[in-house]
Amino acid sequence: MKVELKNLTKIFPSRNKKAGGEVVAVNDFNFTIPDGKLVGLLGPSGCGKSTTLYMISGLQKPTSGQIFFGDEDVTELTPENRGIGLVFQNYALYPHMTVKQNILFPLQNLRGEDKLPKEEMLERAYRVAKLVQIDELMDRKPSELSGGQQQRVAIARALVKMPRVLLLDEPLSNLDARLRLQTREEIRRIQKETGITTIFVTHDQEEAMSISDVIVVMKLGVVQQTGKPQQIYDDPCNLFVAKFLGTPPINVFNGEVKGEVLYIGGAAVLSVPGVEDKAVFVGIRPEGFIPDEAGGLLCEVSGVDVMGRDVSIVSKHKEMLTPSVRSIVDADYTLAEGQREVRYALKPHKVFLFDKTTEERIYFGV
Ligand code: ADP
Ligand code: MG
Repeated sequence: MKVELKNLTKIFPSRNKKAGGEVVAVNDFNFTIPDGKLVGLLGPSGCGKSTTLYMISGLQKPTSGQIFFGDEDVTELTPENRGIGLVFQNYALYPHMTVKQNILFPLQNLRGEDKLPKEEMLERAYRVAKLVQIDELMDRKPSELSGGQQQRVAIARALVKMPRVLLLDEPLSNLDARLRLQTREEIRRIQKETGITTIFVTHDQEEAMSISDVIVVMKLGVVQQTGKPQQIYDDPCNLFVAKFLGTPPINVFNGEVKGEVLYIGGAAVLSVPGVEDKAVFVGIRPEGFIPDEAGGLLCEVSGVDVMGRDVSIVSKHKEMLTPSVRSIVDADYTLAEGQREVRYALKPHKVFLFDKTTEERIYFGV
């Protein structure tokens, strides 16, 4: 099911009546989620992710704009009539019911012509339980399950009505690091197997990058960029997006363009054809540095981190705006004994320039 958001806007009245001022939680959101895809809605806390999801679910009414499922305008429909499955961060299972009863619950609530025979309800409950691999746990109570198992029950409960759209609001936040990894792969598998159009909300860029077909990056209620994860990483449209995606994060410097050459701290570091003379922010991905005696960028070494496969040189530079300069280099690269400085050449496609006022990307080269 394709989901289309048209000029979707949500304005909340101020929580503090005296102080006044309303909150524009979501501002003119336009996007079409392709049928059968998993979309990651990504941004820092408070940027409007949950509000967007709740409007798609029908739990909140948009201030303006429209929502379509396929060709059907669902903007005025109640959540029950939209055919959605919703999963929250805190599972929200019924504690006094068994796993089986929890999963059956949405089906038992169906009325009229939607009502199913008992055998079919059971058959469906077992089918989704098997899909999320909890069919052995059907007679337990939620308190007898681990966090990861509880979240699987919540997903099974959301799937049992065979929703047209599955909505997940930070579903992994309550799990520990290893379970988070495992469960996100599970969600990906379940989504692929069922082919249900899915919207996955998270503030964790790595999570969004690893699981999504398409990512939507939001800031203060406004969509910044949409695209495939790798495409956004390789081609961020502004400084915010460049900084939000990537671990270790992008390195940012003050720079200056003069005569189509980029200078950092007075040293020429890269040719930037087509860029007019001006002061800029320079973003360099950690993998964009090549240790090179002839390189223009001279940094003061403060340490070397070996993290599994990666060797990362931590250094300092007086024009850097991020806490330290972190480069990821070839695992067989070694610093000489007592080496205090390192010179880098730069990979042009890993270097991004940004306007200092608007923080929009300035493109160079071809
Ligand atoms: P996120 O899920 O990205 O953390 P939310 O969608 O929950 O962000 O919130 C977006 C903005 O809207 C925040 O500034 C938040 O304080 C505000 N907000 C959310 N719900 C309400 C509400 N019911 N009343 C007033 N303001 C709200
Ligand atoms: Mg939220």
